[in-house]
Amino acid sequence: MSRPNSTAARDIAHQLHPYTNAVRHAEIGPIVMDRGEGIYVFDDQGNRYIEGLAGLWSVAVGFGEKRLVEAARKQLDKLPYYHTFAHKSHLPSIELAEKLAEMTPEGLSHVFFTNSGSEANDTVIKLVWYYNNALGRPKKKKFLARTQGYHGVTVAAASLTGLPNNHRDFDLPAIPVRHLTCPHFYRFGNPGETEAQFVERLAAELEAVIQEEGADTIAAFIGEPLMSAGGVIPAPEGYWQKVQEICRRYDILVVADEVITGFGRLGTTFGSEHYGIKPDLMVLSKQITSSYQPLAAIMISDDIFKAVADNSGKIGTFGHGYTATGHPVATAVALENLAIIEERKLVENATAMGKVLQARLAKLASHPLVGEVRGVGLIAGVELVADKATKARFAEHGKVGAYVFARAHHHGLIVRNIMDTLAFCPPLIITESQIEEMAQAFERTLDDAAEWIAAGQPA
Ligand code: PMP
Repeated sequence: MSRPNSTAARDIAHQLHPYTNAVRHAEIGPIVMDRGEGIYVFDDQGNRYIEGLAGLWSVAVGFGEKRLVEAARKQLDKLPYYHTFAHKSHLPSIELAEKLAEMTPEGLSHVFFTNSGSEANDTVIKLVWYYNNALGRPKKKKFLARTQGYHGVTVAAASLTGLPNNHRDFDLPAIPVRHLTCPHFYRFGNPGETEAQFVERLAAELEAVIQEEGADTIAAFIGEPLMSAGGVIPAPEGYWQKVQEICRRYDILVVADEVITGFGRLGTTFGSEHYGIKPDLMVLSKQITSSYQPLAAIMISDDIFKAVADNSGKIGTFGHGYTATGHPVATAVALENLAIIEERKLVENATAMGKVLQARLAKLASHPLVGEVRGVGLIAGVELVADKATKARFAEHGKVGAYVFARAHHHGLIVRNIMDTLAFCPPLIITESQIEEMAQAFERTLDDAAEWIAAGQPA
């Protein structure tokens, strides 16, 4: 078999890409990334891009961090692999579990490791089911989640995700779940409604769903403190307080999916801290290793741990785990990454630079295409609209966003479009001048988009 001669052609020939239109990919081919340095990545043609999304919301310490390479190398050399099944353990997983128990809110005392956020959320579902079985409440199994929430793509996690693309064509949801209204006031607030009234309405909806289903059938509420992949949607004031109050009243567990918000993104170590959430389970990934290694962690409350332990005592073992649960190289890299975040005060940097980013992007609100600028700390969304006054969307939802996403590459910027919202989530090491460079590249891209629409592109 003759080999296609360009890297792009070789890619097209044999890879099915995640979250990619395969036909379009064959037409335009990939940008092949070659290396990274700080907040920048370089493709194999030598073009430099600001990584405005930190890869996939994850490269906290930036690219090319040699200390993480060294941590991985050392561990590979000493003990490249060992598992944590059946009474075995190893120091990197022990130390990371200790560190996470110390860092996370009080009461979250135990950790279960997985390889990805999706697997972590699948594990959450199984843990919650196991917990309720252990407590003799076999009916209490349903989950509550939100429209536009993102919790991953494995069969059960994708069921929690509240995006049509993740359900349609995959015969999902496959677990009992109810999706509640997305807490995005700009989009889902009723005409004339205040934000406080909107929060009241969502609280009433939550309570009505619990009444309708029966509290004895609902196990947990899962949510991202700030919704990210569904459009970068900060929770409105008072929303989480209401949700928690209602969940506690009906003995429903609260799960904080902190896969993106964990480790400084909102300018606090965890998003739960920013919103005053006291979760029973907390899901962490991405910035835990700055994505230098695949790893996720579920933080488990004392109560849940005790019930699981008691039940395991009765029936034998907790029958769940992955070959790479607590992988020594991934956990060693996580420890070094968390040390760097502390030493370089990157959470503090996220607080300070977050203010700079939010203020700079807020200036874009006067641009004719911009409907809403929103965000907290170093994560932000800029929603583009056809009509600022009516908030009307473009005729083909997502098309202008896709244009901006593609066009930004010409200005040396990588951002993510979620339909017509452009997401920013740069590495936590970003500086003030780099934020300015990123904002200017984005402004040039927005101007191109306005011209493109004015030139009669079918938007
Ligand atoms: N939860 C949240 C909040 C996420 O943002 C993501 C990924 N973007 C996931 C879960 C799934 O993680 P993974 O892609 O590692 O499976």
